[in-house]
Amino acid sequence: MRYLGCVLGISAILLIMAGCSVSKVYQERQFLAMDTLISVELSGTEENVQQIQTIIDELENKVSTTNQNSELYQINHRMANTVVLSDTVAQLLHDELEISETTNGALNPALYPISLAWGFTTENKRVPSEQELAALLPKTNWRQIQLSGNQLTLMEGMELDFGATAKGFASDLCATYLREQGVKSALLDFGGNVYTIGDNKEGEMWKIGIRDPWDETAQNFAGVLESTNEAVITSGSYERYFEQDGVRYHHIMDGTTGMPAQSGLVSVTIVCESGVKADGLSTALFVMGLEEGSKYWRQYGGFEAIFITENGEQYYTEGLIQRYEPSLEKKAEVIYQ
Ligand code: AMP
Ligand code: MG
Repeated sequence: MRYLGCVLGISAILLIMAGCSVSKVYQERQFLAMDTLISVELSGTEENVQQIQTIIDELENKVSTTNQNSELYQINHRMANTVVLSDTVAQLLHDELEISETTNGALNPALYPISLAWGFTTENKRVPSEQELAALLPKTNWRQIQLSGNQLTLMEGMELDFGATAKGFASDLCATYLREQGVKSALLDFGGNVYTIGDNKEGEMWKIGIRDPWDETAQNFAGVLESTNEAVITSGSYERYFEQDGVRYHHIMDGTTGMPAQSGLVSVTIVCESGVKADGLSTALFVMGLEEGSKYWRQYGGFEAIFITENGEQYYTEGLIQRYEPSLEKKAEVIYQ
């Protein structure tokens, strides 16, 4: 109703001021998709918001590991070793494999048998035995994924999962659509994975709170980042975990051991123009840890990062100095080139 009033108001002004440009109506919507609450704010039309939801639903219907009708489910339950992918899934796998290559497998789309054994997708969470993990690890060699155009060949027993990149990829698809539509201001929030377009409705840069990993209410921030026209994506061990015998096990796996990555980090945030890259790197650099992650940033560049360590320290790359305000009690240090 609020928007309807606004629309009528604008129409009335239009009648009087023919020829003048009219600012678009501000739209806000929340919905559940991709296992998370998605919030969309944008200056545009109702149809723009609806289309965002459609884009996300369509992607989810392709890459869900559990929906038996999804393309990914069909891939993982294939009858022959070679399958033909849709353009969308071929692109996503191609993008993820590029990061697997540069991160030396820290990002590994073939880890699904391991995640499944831990029960992170089925919610039957459990600690697999060493023997079980040892038997599964040979099925997770991402170098054996053969992708040629849309043709994918997988060894028997291999299974894929795009949990580490799909939300970032979805944000890219949405951002491309919104730019084509001439939308100048938007915030897409996939449960903490954010994409910003232009400025907020006050005409200022978007202010993105980086979650305090120790605050279970998710109301407090480790810091605030000013952002425009980019993805801001966090991987954190607090996002999905369970406890057994006093030990906490989280969902970001180290492909060399089949165990939750223990790199000394609790979260990694990546800031860059590409959502799929930010999402893939947030997972990969979480696995690699602060030292290796900083090395990677120095070698490849093209993104900024915020690392939060287990003891509450923050380290952020120098490109963020002007626009990141850390607020945890412990020290916050800049990583220089
Ligand atoms: P994210 O929250 O973006 O860090 O992604 C975590 C999700 O990616 C997990 O829930 C798994 O589905 C999947 N995953 C876990 N570990 C890895 C890994 N090392 N490489 C690729 N995907 C992973
Ligand atoms: Mg990720």
